[in-house]
Amino acid sequence: MTTIYLKPHKEESLRRFHPWVFSGAIARVVLDAKHKGDAPEEGELVCVHSAANEVLGVGHWQVGSIAVRILAFGVEELPKDFWAERIRAAYQVREAIGLVRIQNNTFRLIHGEGDFLPGLIVDVYADTAVVQAHSVGIHVCRNEIAEALIAEVPQVKNVYYKSDDTLPFKAPIEGEKVGWLKRHQTISNDVKQSQTAEEYWSIENGLSFRIDWLRGQKTGFFVDQRENRALVERYAKDKDVLNMFCYTGGFSLYALRGGAKSVDSVDVSQKAIDLVNINVARNFPDATNHRAVAADAFEYLSQQKAEGKTYDLIILDPPAFAKHRDAVKNALRGYQRINAKAIEMIRTGGLLFTFSCSQAVDKEAFRLAVFSAAAQVGRKVRILHQLHQPQDHPINIYHPEGEYLKGLVLYVE
Ligand code: SAH
Repeated sequence: MTTIYLKPHKEESLRRFHPWVFSGAIARVVLDAKHKGDAPEEGELVCVHSAANEVLGVGHWQVGSIAVRILAFGVEELPKDFWAERIRAAYQVREAIGLVRIQNNTFRLIHGEGDFLPGLIVDVYADTAVVQAHSVGIHVCRNEIAEALIAEVPQVKNVYYKSDDTLPFKAPIEGEKVGWLKRHQTISNDVKQSQTAEEYWSIENGLSFRIDWLRGQKTGFFVDQRENRALVERYAKDKDVLNMFCYTGGFSLYALRGGAKSVDSVDVSQKAIDLVNINVARNFPDATNHRAVAADAFEYLSQQKAEGKTYDLIILDPPAFAKHRDAVKNALRGYQRINAKAIEMIRTGGLLFTFSCSQAVDKEAFRLAVFSAAAQVGRKVRILHQLHQPQDHPINIYHPEGEYLKGLVLYVE
């Protein structure tokens, strides 16, 4: 195996189980004798040594500022049943914290570094696991991962791979980035070609959601808002609710179940709005108090305000406004603008659930943006809850970069 030697003292963060080796920490690379090229291949397993030649661990080689993502610390090669063992451990946590039930078969099984599997995301929807690779190393191992998922997770019978948006853009990738890795039924090629022929449903806290990973965003659903949706349900009774950036209507279904007087769901994507309507019809076939609108958030809020519309409870769950560090300033301005618009439209004694999923915007910066919005509108605003990502999106304490979702529940007077 290729060996990576670090510069002196650069092993310290690895000793604390932070799984990344930055390219600047590398002193030299000794290629495996069988190696053809003059550098490690992206996705290749490499062994990392300290300057004093101690074995630190094995991981996947990457091209970029993160050069290696460590999979196993203190060993020279991956144990034989490595994938099965890690997946089993992750599943045991989900089971132990009560996420695996008949009334809840939707959960994140693998949250990358938070489950000690850098570069791998797996969401489970009923009997299907949807896998996303964020590194070439994970892509290379996708079939072993699929085998381990079937073997270790009792409810999983199918494994779908969806990595077209997540694999490094320039990397040389062999094999398909999208498609079934495991399928328990023998299906005709026609169906394989057009998965639209089938519908997939999953249950979150007793509510059914149509999951369309093929055309939908991410793995098809935002599993990370489950606990925050449950909090909306607690406060929704008799309220007029606006679910802005609703996607497939997660917060809307919980608000309806919580007894909301009315729920307006808004998203710029018509495909998302179609799914909201399908989900509402499935769970609340007789509901007459739900309305779904395809519209831009800023335009919708301006227009509604001009018409004098107000709400008791507004949810703002926008897409990541900052995808990179250099976009943070603009993102903060965006958060301030959208929050100011929402705060203006809340009735006295109403609630705003406001979120940011930008990893690059930390919770202090986000709170400051919301503070600026409140001050701009000039209303009395108090924080009732500080929200975050749920328990199936764990943060490795040595890898704080894994924290991304934050939210505030505001009481507006
Ligand atoms: N709250 C959702 C997830 C939101 S994801 C849930 O619980 O599942 C962010 C959503 O914002 C996406 O569905 C995207 O289509 C939508 N979006 C992006 N830009 C928008 C805009 N300018 N106006 C309205 N919606 C927008």
